[in-house]
This record gives sequence, structure tokens and C-alpha cells, in this order.
Amino acid sequence: MPLQLPRSPWLTEELDDFREMARSFCQKELTPHQDRWIENKQIDREVWTKAGEIGLLCLSVPEEYGGGGGSFAHETVLYEEQARSGDSAWGVSVHNGIVAHYLLAYAAEEKKREWLPKLASGEWIGAIAMTEPGTGSDLQGITTRAVRDGDEYVINGAKTFITNGAMADFVVVACKTDPDPDAGAKGMSLIAVPTSAAGFRRGRVLDKIGLKGQDTAELFFDDVRVPVANLLGDQEGLGFFQLMQQLPQERLLIAVTAVAGMEAAVDQTIAYTHEREAFGRPLSKFQNTKFTLADAATEVAVSRAFLDQCIERHLRGDLDVQGAAMAKLWTTERANRVIDDCVQLFGGYGYMMEYPVARAWADMRISRIFGGTSEIMKDIISRTL
Ligand SMILES: Cc1cc2nc3c(=O)[nH]c(=O)nc-3n(C[C@H](O)[C@H](O)[C@H](O)COP(=O)(O)OP(=O)(O)OC[C@H]3O[C@@H](n4cnc5c(N)ncnc54)[C@H](O)[C@@H]3O)c2cc1C
Repeated sequence: MPLQLPRSPWLTEELDDFREMARSFCQKELTPHQDRWIENKQIDREVWTKAGEIGLLCLSVPEEYGGGGGSFAHETVLYEEQARSGDSAWGVSVHNGIVAHYLLAYAAEEKKREWLPKLASGEWIGAIAMTEPGTGSDLQGITTRAVRDGDEYVINGAKTFITNGAMADFVVVACKTDPDPDAGAKGMSLIAVPTSAAGFRRGRVLDKIGLKGQDTAELFFDDVRVPVANLLGDQEGLGFFQLMQQLPQERLLIAVTAVAGMEAAVDQTIAYTHEREAFGRPLSKFQNTKFTLADAATEVAVSRAFLDQCIERHLRGDLDVQGAAMAKLWTTERANRVIDDCVQLFGGYGYMMEYPVARAWADMRISRIFGGTSEIMKDIISRTL
């Protein structure tokens, strides 16, 4: 019998209907194409436009900017269905849950009206570029430089590990606008860069141990010029504070995917251990299998309860940086452990890429690293203790 968990308290009938639509899209447009996308190291561009047509992009952006007018609950339902469909290639959570929200919160009104409808229709694919070859966790150490020249910024630098990097049309770039070490956090700004700008270049799509259908790439900026109106915020130097405001949502959506991923893996493992036999009986009859699954089900139930609490807090607007760090730390560490136990119960088949549990194991490993590593989450949490 699949996992039986209490219904999440933030769900509504409207979200149930939305889930049906999201599930049918994921099963039809994502699941069947995984092998080809893994081979191509990227998805088909039409996925974005098809998703835009039925309203799956910019779900929690107000309708006046072309968005769905929903909330983080709608985002959550979509990422849960994506995780359950076995897809890890479509970088929609970065586009919807991160890039669109930086624009909504900090772009000038005129720019919001110009940019957000393009992201909502799928005409543009969005990316966010913070990490550089020389620095990831220590964001204040970035060296990509934006220098004001009249009505333009001139950007020079390199970014790496950028989700949606190979296909992005529009990138929010973390830059130094004041390189003086004394400026510290106030030296950083976020600037929106269309990838059609002269001097923008993409490097290779990176070879990863998981998320193999995602076009994670290097990006280069050589004297890229953008209008000063592309600065997010009404003055330079707000970038670090904007990141601190938005990172809780980014971390929460990683937690959403971690919990949905472990729920799916446990369900698959329950089914498999009832079918597969060893020594004349189903694997599910061995005490070790029962205990492993009991531990896994408990880990999932506790993670789900804590995640639901954090989602409710976020919907009310009171999820703080520490709470989001706890959600990411707990759920991603648990998901890695639980999925590893699931792989064990699949035996050799659990190591075969045609089994979803094997892909889930490889895909989930990054969750302890991106969006801030587990060590950085502990550092953030410890600051309040
Ligand atoms: C598949 C993938 C997708 C990604 N997508 C994006 C994206 O879209 N945009 C983007 O900007 N970035 C993205 N990243 C980058 C990701 O966020 C960084 O890799 C991550 O933040 C860690 O940075 P780093 O790789 O430079 O590791 P480092 O910062 O070099 O860390 C190395 C190790 O040192 C530890 N460490 C560092 N500082 C401390 C400390 N103070 N205390 C204790 N331990 C510490 C870390 O925890 C880690 O274990 C992505 C990465 C991957 C692999």
C-alpha cells in the first residue's frame, strides 16, 4: 500500500483541480521524453511555450503582469507533480519561483510590464547567475564587475553552474558595482541581462552526475552593455540584501522537491518489495525490509509535517531565513538518506538508470549543495542560537 500521509493543511479544492492539470501536463509533456533530454543535455523549447499556454509559468505572479495570479501553494503543487512524474530536467522552479520573483519585487514598474509577460508565456526562459568559478558559498567574493558608463552598465566576468544556462534568454546577474572590500555586502547589485546582448557568451553544458537533462552551463560576459534601468532596485548596492530576502523561497522550493522526491521513491520501493521475491518470498516479508521502510516512512512523515508548517508560514509571509535554512537542511539530508535506503532495497536494479529510483538517487545528491550547502544552512541556523 502506498504511503498514507495526512492531507497538507494548506491545500484547497482549487489546488486539487490545479494539481490534476499539472499532473496531466507532467505525465504527457515531461515523463516520456526523459531519455532524449538526458542525451541532449537539455529539454525541448516547446515545453516552455506549451506550459505558458496553459498557465503553468509565473504561477504566483499577478495577472496584470501576465502571471497566474496564484500563490506559492500553486508553485508547490507544480513542483510536487514534476518530482512525482520522474522529471528533473525542466528548470521551471528557477524560472517561476526565483527569477520571476526578483523581477516582481525589485524591477522598475515599466520593466516588470515588459519582462514578466515574456517569462509567463514561455517566450523567454529565465536564469539566475550568482555562482562563479572562484566562489559559490561566499557570495560576497564574486568578481563579476558592472561599471556605469553614462546610461549603461558594462559587465565583465564569468558565472558557472547556471541552471537553464544553455537555453536562457534572460539572466539575473549578481555583479560587483563597488569593488572596494570595505563596501562588503553593499558592493553587490543584481542586473538583468538579455542573452541577446553583444558580448554575452555561453560555455559548455556541464557534465553532471545527476539532473542530466538540465542545461546547467557556464556564462561569460565580455563588455556586455545593458541600460541602467536593468538594475534591480532603485539604487546600487542592494543585491546582497535582495538575495537574502529571496533565498528563503528558493530554499523552500528545494525542500518541496526533496520531500516529493522521497515520497515517490518510498512508494516505488513499497511496490517493488512486494513484487520482487528472494528465498521464496517477497522482499517485503523480510524484517529488514519492513524496518527500513518503517524508518523511511517515518522520515517522510516528519519531513512532510515540518515542510507543511514552513509552507504555511511562507504563505502568511513570516518564514524567516533560519526557518527556510532548517527546511532545506532537514529535508535534503533526509531525502538523500531515504533514497539511498530505497536503492539498497532494489538491489542491483537500484543501480540501473532505467529505474526511477536510481535517477532519483543521482538527482537528489545536489540538493545538499545548491541553493546554499548544508554546512552554510547550519551556519545560518547557528547565528540565532
Ligand atoms: C546542478 C547545479 C545547479 C546550480 N544552479 C545554480 C544557479 O542556477 N545559479 C547559481 O548562481 N548557482 C547555481 N549552482 C551553484 C551552487 O549554488 C553552488 O555550487 C553552491 O552554492 C556551493 O558553492 P561552491 O560550489 O562554490 O562550493 P564552495 O563554496 O567552494 O564550498 C565547498 C565546500 O566548502 C564548504 N564551505 C564553504 N564555506 C563554508 C563555511 N563558511 N563553513 C563551513 N563549510 C563551508 C561547503 O559547504 C562545501 O562543502 C548550481 C550548482 C549545481 C551543481
